[in-house]
Amino acid sequence: MTATLMVCPKCSAQQKADEPLHGVLEVINNKVIGKDFDVFDFLPVEKEFFPAIPVGNTPLWESPKLRNFLGLKNLYIKDEGTEPTGSFKDRASYLVAAFAKKHGIKEITLASTGNAGSSMCGVGAAADLKITLFLPKTAPQAKMCQALQYGARLILVDGNYDNAYDLSMEFSKKSGSMSRNTAFNPLTIEGKKTVSLEIFKQLGGRSPDVVFVPVGDGVIISGVYKGFRDLKEKGLISKVPVIYCAQSNKSDAINRAFVKGHFENIPTNTIADSICVDIPRNGYLALKNMKDHAGRTVTVSDEEILMAQHELSKMSGLFTEPAGATAYAGLKKALEKNELDKNACIVVLTTGSGLKDAATALKGVTPPQKPIKSLNELV
Ligand SMILES: *Cc1c(COP(=O)(O)O)cnc(C)c1O
Repeated sequence: MTATLMVCPKCSAQQKADEPLHGVLEVINNKVIGKDFDVFDFLPVEKEFFPAIPVGNTPLWESPKLRNFLGLKNLYIKDEGTEPTGSFKDRASYLVAAFAKKHGIKEITLASTGNAGSSMCGVGAAADLKITLFLPKTAPQAKMCQALQYGARLILVDGNYDNAYDLSMEFSKKSGSMSRNTAFNPLTIEGKKTVSLEIFKQLGGRSPDVVFVPVGDGVIISGVYKGFRDLKEKGLISKVPVIYCAQSNKSDAINRAFVKGHFENIPTNTIADSICVDIPRNGYLALKNMKDHAGRTVTVSDEEILMAQHELSKMSGLFTEPAGATAYAGLKKALEKNELDKNACIVVLTTGSGLKDAATALKGVTPPQKPIKSLNELV
């Protein structure tokens, strides 16, 4: 399979370098599926090809302390920090790896801000695939370390994610390896939709009213939409939930385009590295989904993200990375603005483990000033 077969050739012919991807494809599912489905029924690769690594089935938290604190009786947190490599990206890597196994593909290339990379390296190790990863040199250490631990080839790029993306595309063409670049490979969206199917099951066969999703490239949010759209198409839910696109005000390309109607290329630098994206690769599809299903936007500052991260940790015992905390910060802001019905069933998606980027998380707390030898030194 060559890289050029991934997007619609006609739509992508008009592609410019500084725009989101044109011609992103979606997977169609013609199966008849009932209420007691297996999540694999909704996927385009048979169960037997998936590698032996426990992706998905993440917990849906019901924290009484947090619910009381916020006055939200039906608040849930879907925590993706418990995925095998510590982030939501495993859902995409899992399907990409299964597809590779089924079709005899042995090598996969990708660019990443960190999590997609460490994820593909980990899932790829389980699936016995050769992974080449392009990361910006500024990626958090834990994410680089994971890639190396999993035995992948790690190439650091002297530039940002967008530069890494371009180099990885060039490399996959040259090497003939399959690209797992987010959005470009439609299986990334398809794999990510499994979160919605799981939420439906965990809520006892219904969809929530509202979901908060942290957004960078717009693939997770499109996956979340795809899952609920599939459930609706199969007649299992009557309505796609209201989905909030939560972004940092230092990286808010999709939210700006939602208001302005077009994408602008503005340099980004949020502390939430996983959602720090100049050109959101899946911008067009994310916007289409948001427009079609009455999606909403919420934008928060880096300070609000750090405060939200610490608050969520203290209030629930769930420590998520800054990108995940952006969804919780978005919930707080929507509450402040009185946009939410307090009885609504609300799900906040925390997309990665807090341990992924301890250096940033330390900025949101006060570390002890100096080590002591005696209790007399305590003030
Ligand atoms: C990738 C990622 C996101 C954003 O997903 P996009 O598909 O880029 O919008 C959010 N949180 C975490 C932890 C991620 O790794």
